[in-house]
Amino acid sequence: MSVESDTRTTGQQTSTAERPDGFQEIDVLWISEGMSCDGDTVSVTAAAQPAIEDVVLGLIPGLPKVNLHNKVLSPSLGGEHFLAPFRAAARGELGPFILVIEGSIPNQNIIEGEGFWTSFGMDEETGQPLTLNWWLDHLAPRAWAVVGAGTCATYGGIHAMAGNPTGCMGLADYLGWDYTSRGGLPIVNIPGCPVQPENFMETLTWLLYHAAGSAPPPPLDHMLRPQWLFGKTVHEGCDRAAYYEQADFAKDYNSPKCQVKVGCWGPVVNCNVPKRGWMSGIGGCPNVGGICIGCTMPGFPDAFMPFMDEPAGGSLSSLLIKPYGAFIRRMRGITNVAVNRETKWRHNKAELTSGYDPYWRSETDARSN
Ligand code: SF4
Ligand code: SF4
Repeated sequence: MSVESDTRTTGQQTSTAERPDGFQEIDVLWISEGMSCDGDTVSVTAAAQPAIEDVVLGLIPGLPKVNLHNKVLSPSLGGEHFLAPFRAAARGELGPFILVIEGSIPNQNIIEGEGFWTSFGMDEETGQPLTLNWWLDHLAPRAWAVVGAGTCATYGGIHAMAGNPTGCMGLADYLGWDYTSRGGLPIVNIPGCPVQPENFMETLTWLLYHAAGSAPPPPLDHMLRPQWLFGKTVHEGCDRAAYYEQADFAKDYNSPKCQVKVGCWGPVVNCNVPKRGWMSGIGGCPNVGGICIGCTMPGFPDAFMPFMDEPAGGSLSSLLIKPYGAFIRRMRGITNVAVNRETKWRHNKAELTSGYDPYWRSETDARSN
């Protein structure tokens, strides 16, 4: 399945909003104080194309100078020193900046007045925690771009499972799906649990080139994902797809064959990880024996549970492909034996007909003895 037909082009929106006439410098304000395990921050440290260090050190030609504010990755004394650019941005005294949100956003209304689901610094007047909701309310209207890093920030993820007490949600459900940033961009969603490192860095780099005025805005699909990264399914890039086509299915997790019968959702999940790999091109869930559980998807995790059971649609399609696959596999086996021989007019007979004369080798052997 492809979502290319349902793309949302952002190009026209910049003409009605603040144009990035080539920013020389930009801040990246990264908040992971939502419902988060900080896994996306950790994941991004593995990126190599480009590495986040290369972007921050100005080693990528044509990018603006990037000031990164991430509690794990940026040099800071911590405390108020770390919070200073966030507070300045909230006062409207920092610009332009890209706001990166990691983790889902709880519904503070559920417990209004009785506590805080999240906390990122303290209110300087009241001494009470400043919630992620407070920061979003103050920063999202001023941000040049807003990026969701990982499935929790984009669609709610694990924390937004049915029955969760926080009522948490993804960025677009909080800000509105028609939110537009100061740069004229919709929210940019980069899902994944965690986000694939290069998926994040490639999208950030595209945004930075756009901020520099040298690239159009990134094309997004109807769920605000980078279309070039999430336009194909896991299945379409999986190393095991040939086994599927031949109805050769794994019965357990030790098998190199297609894992659809042991719980893989790859045929209906938008994700490029099997093609891209995880670190330095290595890995990519089903390629290395991990079933796809749909972690990039808006319906994750509820729509994919219970994990490790055969998906209902998977049992139907694997049933339908069985007679075709079994027949084709047998035919290919016969053809494979046939093409593993040299053709009969070559000199591949029991008796040598090539003219090869072993005489000189015998002479050499005799001399060395
Ligand atoms: S392992 Fe999953 S993604 Fe790979 S071929 Fe089988 S069903 Fe498709
Ligand atoms: S292949 Fe599936 S489980 Fe793995 S990262 Fe992609 S969506 Fe998530």
